[in-house]
Amino acid sequence: MKTKLFCGEEISCLGMGNMRLPVNDEKKIDFDAAAAIIDRLYNSGVNYFDTAYVYHGGESESFLGKAMKKYPRESFRLATKFPYFVGKAPTEVFEEQLKKLDTDYVDFYLLHAVGDSNADGYLNEGALDYFREQKKLGRIRHLGFSFHGSLDTLRRFVAANDWDFTQIQLNYMDWTLQHGKEQYEILTEAGIPVVVMEPVRGGRLAKLTPDTEAELKAVHPDWSLPSWAFRFLMRLPNVKVILSGMSTLEQAEDNAKTFTEGEALSDEDTALLLEVCERYKKQVSVPCTGCRYCVDDCPMGINIPEMMEIYNKFKLNGRHAAKAIEKQEPNAKDCIGCGACAALCPQGIEIPKVMEELREAVKED
Ligand code: SF4
Ligand code: SF4
Repeated sequence: MKTKLFCGEEISCLGMGNMRLPVNDEKKIDFDAAAAIIDRLYNSGVNYFDTAYVYHGGESESFLGKAMKKYPRESFRLATKFPYFVGKAPTEVFEEQLKKLDTDYVDFYLLHAVGDSNADGYLNEGALDYFREQKKLGRIRHLGFSFHGSLDTLRRFVAANDWDFTQIQLNYMDWTLQHGKEQYEILTEAGIPVVVMEPVRGGRLAKLTPDTEAELKAVHPDWSLPSWAFRFLMRLPNVKVILSGMSTLEQAEDNAKTFTEGEALSDEDTALLLEVCERYKKQVSVPCTGCRYCVDDCPMGINIPEMMEIYNKFKLNGRHAAKAIEKQEPNAKDCIGCGACAALCPQGIEIPKVMEELREAVKED
């Protein structure tokens, strides 16, 4: 297993994220199946296990505490997070976490999902002071934050404390799409080591379109798509741990293999991967230019270009992004499929089909 020096410790480059554990019919964590994944990873040298107060409806921390019990405490690192957004006092959450994890200390502790709307809350309402104090007491060994916000907020948050590490969403698609490159550069410049979350974009980069997938397979037939994603991140020296939320033993096997035998992508393979990613984005998106030729003839008065923009986000980010149509009235759900718009679209977009897909995506299961 590849390791890196991270906060002065030798830590595995692959970390286990405990937010997508296998579950049973009642949607509860399947202890035996999930523990088998942990055991497989631990035995291949993984020593970084990440969880959070809110994962699996609060069950993930208790699971991890039990699953790790058979291993010497000093042989692995636990990472967990404080969620400002649940509205509980830091002391209440932290004491509960130590109990659930069955430990006296947390190795890597994060303020969870810092963003534009909660950054001030984290900084000014006592959470940061409380966790700094816990670090002084030795109950937290390294203090950091996970981040989902704008570059301005990131800069401000970085300057607010002497952080030991941080966790950001990074993968070859978000390198350009969600300011991934800029976030990485801000943190590297500030000397803050990076843990990566969503390296495979919540599983979305584990499946591309058939021809983009074939382009990658043609170059390295024995590499899985997640392996391409991990190798892209291995190029970045300030990325210390890459978290993967594994749900099956097969994923654990494949990931352990990549992080044991695999090397970082070459410049040539990186250029190919970024090109393939651009082609993939075009293939799954509609090429709406926002010209609005279609708008006036819609009998339902739907803001069609807005729906097209939401559709593209939905194709890249998943079903939850389609929910944004409901902020507009009228929206894709009101489309009667008359086709007046499609006849006027210079890009040849099959607008009624797009509307139907959006409608289906927002239907509850
Ligand atoms: S197909 Fe739907 S979106 Fe297009 S013009 Fe008719 S009602 Fe409007
Ligand atoms: S006519 Fe086509 S390209 Fe122009 S705004 Fe409508 S959907 Fe988009």
